[in-house]
Amino acid sequence: MFTPPFTFTPEQERLRQDVRELLRVQCREDLVRARRARPWRHPDLTYRRLGEHGWLAPDWPTEYGGLGLSIVESAIVAEEMALAGVPDSARVNTVDNAGSTLLVAGTDEQKARFLPAMAAAERLFVVLYSEPEAGSDLGGLATHAEREGDGWRLSGEKIWNVGANKAEYGICLARTGEGKSKYAGLSLFLVPLHVDGVRIGEIPGFNPEAFDHIVFDDVRLPADALVGAEGEAWQLVNEVLAVERTGVYFYGHAQRWLDLLTRFELPARAVSDVRGLQADLPAARLLTWHAVELLSRGEDAAAAAAGAKWWTSELTSRVAALVWSVREAFTGREQVVARRPAAADRVDGLPTDDVELTTALSEAPGLTVAGGTSEMMLATVSAALFDEALEVA
Ligand SMILES: Cc1cc2nc3c(=O)[nH]c(=O)nc-3n(C[C@H](O)[C@H](O)[C@H](O)COP(=O)(O)OP(=O)(O)OC[C@H]3O[C@@H](n4cnc5c(N)ncnc54)[C@H](O)[C@@H]3O)c2cc1C
Repeated sequence: MFTPPFTFTPEQERLRQDVRELLRVQCREDLVRARRARPWRHPDLTYRRLGEHGWLAPDWPTEYGGLGLSIVESAIVAEEMALAGVPDSARVNTVDNAGSTLLVAGTDEQKARFLPAMAAAERLFVVLYSEPEAGSDLGGLATHAEREGDGWRLSGEKIWNVGANKAEYGICLARTGEGKSKYAGLSLFLVPLHVDGVRIGEIPGFNPEAFDHIVFDDVRLPADALVGAEGEAWQLVNEVLAVERTGVYFYGHAQRWLDLLTRFELPARAVSDVRGLQADLPAARLLTWHAVELLSRGEDAAAAAAGAKWWTSELTSRVAALVWSVREAFTGREQVVARRPAAADRVDGLPTDDVELTTALSEAPGLTVAGGTSEMMLATVSAALFDEALEVA
């Protein structure tokens, strides 16, 4: 396996082995069954087990359900989750996004109330940023909150998040005022999802987990629903998104799907494509761990993370394209171009590889969009390079 430019400590390697053992041995059947369901069901058992060990939020302080470790350990667990095929949206949304936002900007009361339950997978959150007319251009969002008495009144609509029916709260970006730019005057709120005035619908799509469409119709929020300073959410949102954009999950998916593919007897042309992609994996991991390292040192990782997200998510698409080219093996057609090994891995009497690989086809396209599209990631990288060039000139 590829070694990043820095070495992991023996404790970190032990953590990796322990997480691997839990996910690949003890949670394997739960994970396969969750992935076989359409739409995916949440792998409750797996998340509970990860939570019991403090592995959903290893870098959070122990008083909030973490282990007081660093972001490197957190990324190690995230990498192992992706390599073992854990549907990661619950961790990305609840811990990496909503939880990290509370950790950075929440009040002591908000942290004590929510973080331990998030780290134990007892409370799930969704991230409510995108809207029908505002995705890449998030500063143009229309959802707004107005002060009412000592609280707030929220109206608007959000789309493309996943898991709202299972989640208790959403962390919602809304306009609370105007400023010099469209990024000023935005605020974050903790919004309960199952109260009067909140309507949750589903959007069918290519994603294996159904997308939500949520409408807020004059929802009354208490004063302590506000997270961080009023009107100053933009920087916080971007700071927190850098964790998702390091590409740890994306790299893990690419590696896992490619590993699964090599278990099949492939035609010669596909074998050479597999080798080409295997050669690209180390670059993906290098970019990913470079971004993690910058974050762990407290340095600005925005451009490094954007570059890592772009390369690793695009690599997952290239792996999925290869899966598609030999798909007859997984869709049970007669004209088989790849052959399943005789000793196929099975759960409940059925082979497991098919479900994993067909998942690659439905999941990969979304990875180049979720958390920021490839075009927007490249725009972030080029803006950073341009600034650097100006500084040198
Ligand atoms: C699997 C998945 C999970 C998601 N989960 C969440 C979630 O939990 N919460 C949430 O809030 N959102 C979520 N999203 C939404 C995601 O963040 C948005 O889809 C994404 O930001 C793009 O926004 P959009 O769909 O409105 O596309 P648009 O912004 O309309 O973009 C359309 C196309 O135009 C390109 N484009 C747009 N602007 C520019 C520009 N300035 N320069 C160059 N090209 C440009 C884009 O790259 C893209 O190709 C999820 C999406 C997916 C696929």
